[in-house]
Amino acid sequence: MSYVSGALKRLVTERADERCEYCRQPQGLSLFSFEMEHIIARKHDGSTTAENLALACPQCNGYKGSDLGSIDPETGVLTPFYHPRLQMWSEHFQLAQGEILPLTAEGRVTVKILRFNLPERVEERLFWAEIDG
Ligand SMILES: [Zn+2]
Repeated sequence: MSYVSGALKRLVTERADERCEYCRQPQGLSLFSFEMEHIIARKHDGSTTAENLALACPQCNGYKGSDLGSIDPETGVLTPFYHPRLQMWSEHFQLAQGEILPLTAEGRVTVKILRFNLPERVEERLFWAEIDG
């Protein structure tokens, strides 16, 4: 664990519009508080700075762990995860009936490893889509 100041937490949370920057779940509709996620894990010398932090739900953060990427199931090529500071969500993912569909190689490895489309997560997403609009 590394210390993230209250001011930095607020900045990251507000910048993310209080949503998980990976699966887009709104924090306000979650029972659990969201976490300060190191995009590049500290294990790989990622810093605890605004540029390297993302707001993440406990599921996304937990499945991502200290990984930086995975093997793209379509090409077999080692591919980094979607990077919420450097890339646009809508260029890598598309929401369809509660499922998050990947549009790119980065999208594919992120959907796979962060398990965006586990049945309970899809169900939850459909539920909050109704509330959130
Ligand atoms: Zn998430």
